[in-house]
Amino acid sequence: MTAESRPLADPSAPDLDAEWSRAIKALNGAAEICLACHVRPDGDALGSMLAVAHALRARGPAERPPGSTPPGSTPPRVVASFGDQPFEIPRILRFLPGADLLSPPDAFPERPQVMVTFDAASVDRLGLLEANASAAEELIVLDHHASNTGFGTVNLVNQAAAATAVLACDLIDRLGVEISRDIALGLYAGLVTDTGSFRYATTSPWVHRLAARLLQTGIDPGVVAHELWDRTPFGFLGLLSAVLQRAQLEPDGADGRGLVWTTVTRDDRAGSGLPYEVAESVIDVVRRADEADVAVVLKEDDDGNWQVSVRSKGKANVGRACVALGGGGHALAAGFTARGPAAEIMTALRRQLADGPGGPGGAGSGS
Ligand code: AMP
Ligand code: MN
Ligand code: MN
Repeated sequence: MTAESRPLADPSAPDLDAEWSRAIKALNGAAEICLACHVRPDGDALGSMLAVAHALRARGPAERPPGSTPPGSTPPRVVASFGDQPFEIPRILRFLPGADLLSPPDAFPERPQVMVTFDAASVDRLGLLEANASAAEELIVLDHHASNTGFGTVNLVNQAAAATAVLACDLIDRLGVEISRDIALGLYAGLVTDTGSFRYATTSPWVHRLAARLLQTGIDPGVVAHELWDRTPFGFLGLLSAVLQRAQLEPDGADGRGLVWTTVTRDDRAGSGLPYEVAESVIDVVRRADEADVAVVLKEDDDGNWQVSVRSKGKANVGRACVALGGGGHALAAGFTARGPAAEIMTALRRQLADGPGGPGGAGSGS
């Protein structure tokens, strides 16, 4: 499919035509296609990957260009996974159709012929699947992070894209597959997750047109919003109360821009038997504090590592600070992983936020 005939081509997309051609050629010729998204997947990572998995499965011989596969050949085998152990789909994403398309990372081919990654800015974000990606013959990277390291053999990276789902939709269009409801649900979950329900600055008119196109398939945006944001175990209310009580406001922090931060420990979760993923939504409450440009939540995972979420309202470039601490992300939404006392991690982060030349620099605030 040419750029002209594709529906609603993303006007923000850089010229990646040569990369797209190589990606489509590799996918059309493959007997097996292996998909992977980043660890502890969010709606964009898992939604984009499942959408493409559905599309590859739906793609019959009719959708393939003539001569791309020998006559009578069977459709490619599709493997989709993410590198977490234990391998569990986050609860809030279990409404997405396609759990049956997923397999655990130990079932992933060690040396994939063609592998596609979703929403991962660097190869280490694939967790247990990092070695598989490094050994892949053709590694197609679909991503929108400013911090993307270009670790693929084909890098389809658009920093200006609101979500990886935008690139996944482009891929599906270029494969010539019609957007079904199952595909639309995955892509829409990615789009609403990374635009904060169409609130962040990446929400262009074109993003709304893409959303309209996805809703046209008949998916229910109310159901998606309810599943993603309006459901939580009762025990979370107590946890939220405790972690907000201990939130600290540092009005002079982040180079005078204001900093607010808190922690969510394993102990906080243990009382009510809450999984790690409940900690993910805390940043969206903490970041509301008006006095702070920068918000930080340190989330202790089940292995005792701190997964740190950092957000800026526009003045500080938290992506740069997180990259300096071994993580990644966007200018206004980023993160890193650390071990040790929370106070020391905050000291290191404060230093990075004070050092930076300031200003968000790159675009994007989704995840
Ligand atoms: P989160 O705070 O987990 O919603 O993530 C915000 C952004 O930072 C996303 O774009 C993530 O991909 C990125 N990010 C979060 N944690 C890490 C990490 N440990 N390493 C690299 N990037 C991260
Ligand atoms: Mn993500
Ligand atoms: Mn994303």
